[in-house]
Amino acid sequence: MFGRWVADVSRKVPSLLKRVSLGMKPQVVFVLGGPGAGKGTQCSRIVENYSYTHLSAGDLLREERAREGSEFGQLIDNYIKEGQIVPVQITINLLKKAMEATMEKDETKFRFLIDGFPRNEDNLQGWNTVMDGKADVKFVLFFDCDNKVCIQRCLERGKSSGRTDDNRESLEKRIQTYLQSTRPIIQLYEKLGKVRTVDASRSVDEVFAEVKAILDKEA
Ligand code: ADP
Ligand code: AMP
Repeated sequence: MFGRWVADVSRKVPSLLKRVSLGMKPQVVFVLGGPGAGKGTQCSRIVENYSYTHLSAGDLLREERAREGSEFGQLIDNYIKEGQIVPVQITINLLKKAMEATMEKDETKFRFLIDGFPRNEDNLQGWNTVMDGKADVKFVLFFDCDNKVCIQRCLERGKSSGRTDDNRESLEKRIQTYLQSTRPIIQLYEKLGKVRTVDASRSVDEVFAEVKAILDKEA
């Protein structure tokens, strides 16, 4: 009877809380870099080769924008087109839910690549408030890429991506947002010795070789 009750309760306790209470917090790598630096491309490669789950803040926001009945659809749409950073409450909730759903489905899935987050001070504060003590941030994987190369890649991607922000006008704004808001966050983590930088302007295979060396060393 008691055993069944415990099993019942533990099924209901969100796996994030369960993990924290067991001292087995989810492990997080933040993935940052300019728009088009190749974050998504490299995360896919990592997922193929390591036991990480890829969560892209941008993808989660685009999914939420498309979700029928979403109260934030229009707001997210405006922010994305303007290359601005969506308010943190929305993004952090989507990330937290996605982490919980992943661990709920498979308890062995507790390593996350969080791509495109934290993009600014607001994001970082939101993370510290909501996730403090609930996840271990291992390091920041920083894809360092020349802005011109980034723009060129996104324009190329824009020919087939259907994204509302892969055009020159949105890209200029996204680069500005990156330089003004995201670079300082990377610098902040640099001071903590938590940034692993990759030269992302080379070919996909060359970049991945460097990523692999970093992940193998960190494991
Ligand atoms: P991000 O997630 O950083 O915005 P993506 O991974 O979506 O960037 O890459 C942007 C575009 O550039 C995609 O069309 C992708 O195929 C291409 N790309 C990614 N990495 C490289 C690379 N190392 N060299 C050339 N093109 C790349
Ligand atoms: P990405 O797919 O990473 O290129 O992001 C596309 C757009 O989604 C950005 O220009 C922002 O408008 C929005 N976005 C992505 N990540 C975040 C985030 N961490 N916080 C707020 N907005 C974000």
